[in-house]
Amino acid sequence: MPDSASAVETFPPLRVCALYPDLMNIYADRGNLLVLERRCAWRGIGFELSSSGLGERLDERPYDLFYIGGGQDRDQRLCAEDLIENKRAGLHAAAARGAVVLGVCGGYQLLGHSYTLGEEEIPGVGLLDLTTVREDGPRLIGNVAIDVSLDDAGPGAGRRVLAGFENHGGRTRLAEGQEALGRVLKGYGNDGRSGAEGARSGNTIGTYLHGPLLPKNVWFADWLIARALSVAPERLAPLEDGLEREAHLSARRAAGV
Ligand code: GLN
Repeated sequence: MPDSASAVETFPPLRVCALYPDLMNIYADRGNLLVLERRCAWRGIGFELSSSGLGERLDERPYDLFYIGGGQDRDQRLCAEDLIENKRAGLHAAAARGAVVLGVCGGYQLLGHSYTLGEEEIPGVGLLDLTTVREDGPRLIGNVAIDVSLDDAGPGAGRRVLAGFENHGGRTRLAEGQEALGRVLKGYGNDGRSGAEGARSGNTIGTYLHGPLLPKNVWFADWLIARALSVAPERLAPLEDGLEREAHLSARRAAGV
């Protein structure tokens, strides 16, 4: 809910493009988009949501933030082909001009170079320097919390916690020099071994955290909004976040952090 006492600054609308919202939407990752929408609306910031699906060439110019959610292996396969064919060039251009690109789980894997399942290699768009392999062994499932350090993270910047839920068969390895999004406090993260979770290159971010991610970590939603609008996070009006704080704490408790 808005904090009516705070001064209202005007911003241009946040223009979001959801990639394959019908296919890459496991665990209701659409909730992440709703959080962005509400937090903009509560601050009087416009919010424009578009989507780009199979067979649609991506014109990246009208967007500030691109979102691709999680998906089953078979849906990822379909999307991967289309991503390369119709959206890779646009996404690279968008990332190069500083637009936010956020990938969750299956979407995260597709932002890397490849996702290998046995003999098959599903290509990714290569925005993040990483590869994913579906190894033998159990799926990596459970509550997860990571320690994140983001520049410009707003008031109380420095180390922050992201908490959520992960469920992936793929194990992701970051190339040398590829920054992780955070360090695993509880859970598996990229591969259950390295202690790294997610990846970040500038405003391109990937993570295995569903939860869904943003309802349980609204500080991160605000950070993304600020990055996408190219403003410092502290310029966004504070909101009355009692319920949101509870949601965050409950996700942390579930992970044991
Ligand atoms: N299909 C991918 C895997 O199992 C991603 C799953 C997901 O998005 N939750 O690794």
